[in-house]
Parts: sequence; structure tokens; C-alpha cells
Amino acid sequence: MTDTALTIALSKGRIFEETLPLLAAAGIVPAEDPEKSRKLIIDTNHANIRLVIVRATDVPTYVQYGAADFGIAGKDVLIEHGGDGLYQPLDLQIAKCRMMVAVRKGFDYAAASQPGSRLRIATKYPGIAAEHFAAKGVHVDLIKLYGSMELAPLVGLSDAIVDLVSTGNTLKANNLEAVEHIIDISSRLVVNKAALKTKHTLIEPIIQAFAGVVQAE
Ligand code: AMP
Repeated sequence: MTDTALTIALSKGRIFEETLPLLAAAGIVPAEDPEKSRKLIIDTNHANIRLVIVRATDVPTYVQYGAADFGIAGKDVLIEHGGDGLYQPLDLQIAKCRMMVAVRKGFDYAAASQPGSRLRIATKYPGIAAEHFAAKGVHVDLIKLYGSMELAPLVGLSDAIVDLVSTGNTLKANNLEAVEHIIDISSRLVVNKAALKTKHTLIEPIIQAFAGVVQAE
């Protein structure tokens, strides 16, 4: 591909769906729905613009190494990644949720999380969890999980979880409750630092179109 072509990294699901109106504002329409297609590279109505469909946690990596020129990633994913090599010009205000600490209903979290105490925490976000509990002076044994974190306190794997909460329905359905708010999360535009310079004339109008949608809302 030459410098006149653009590759955009997106993940399937909520981020993809909420990105479609942003892409439309920039005049970009995917040729296929990644939920229905097994293709990992999706063409658009522009011959020089393509989408690559990757795991949400891999978006920053594709952009960091320049395999994609820009992408959209949750702040949760960006904090864990560290943000090296990435320019983050815009909070897109999509896929909003909260990073929370949650426990089994009835668990005395206030007593268990006094400074100097020790907690077992299951999470997909060990970096965020470690920083949060260090600031509280609570020692933690972090157990890294890749999904279904809500199960961990129910079967005795951990005292608490650190996870994303949107409606709260998943916690409720599993007899858990949120006991601490860590950080508000939304998705950001992430741009490869070199691409921002070499492909500025291609990328800048897209950033402006996205910014227009965000401001209008
Ligand atoms: P909810 O039941 O609406 O509170 O959603 C909670 C479940 O959805 C948890 O398993 C979360 O990990 C996941 N979740 C919620 N919001 C997001 C988001 N913005 N990005 C990724 N996962 C999310």
C-alpha cells in the first residue's frame, strides 16, 4: 500500500456499531458487515480505504506498529496497552461505561479494603486494578482472567473483580454489586504517530468529521 491508502483498525460489536455513524460522517461506508462476514479485511466505498477487524485489545498494537493508520479503542484497553507510539486526538464519547470494583452481595468490602489489608482481585485489567489498590494502600493478589469475571467471586476464585459496568444487569444477574468506581470509560481515536505526518491530508479530514459528530452530540 502507498501513502495514499488508509487502513482503519476496528473491533466487532459495540465499538463497530457506534463507529458506523462517525465513518458515515466522513463519507466512509463499509462494503460488508463484519458480524456477518468472516473476512478480516473489509473494503469500503473508497478504493484506498479499508477496515481491518481485530480484537478490541489488539487495536492499539496494530496502530502502534503502523499495520493500521488509525483505530478506535476503549480507554480501558489504552490504559492497559500504555499508549506507546499512539496519538490520541479525540474522545469519541462512544461505548461509554465505568470501570468498577464489584463483590458478592453481602461481602463487607469496606472492612476488607482497609489500608494494609490484602484482597484477591480477578480482572482482565491488571494494570488498572494494581494502580487503584496501590493508591488505597491495599495489597492485592491479581488473578488475570480473559472473560466471565463475574463468576470469580461466586466460586471463591477472588474476593472482588475489577470490570466494566454499563447497565449493571450482568452484576445483578450474578448476585454481585458494584462497590467502588475507578474510572469512566469511553472509546478514543488512536492514530499512528508517523501516519499522522505522512498521511496528514487523508487523516485530518476524517478526524474533523468525527469531531463534528462528537460536538453535535
Ligand atoms: P452490563 O450488564 O450492561 O453492566 O454490561 C457488563 C458486561 O459487559 C461486562 O461483562 C463488561 O465487561 C461488558 N461491557 C460493558 N460495557 C463495555 C464496553 N464499553 N466495552 C467492553 N465491554 C463492556
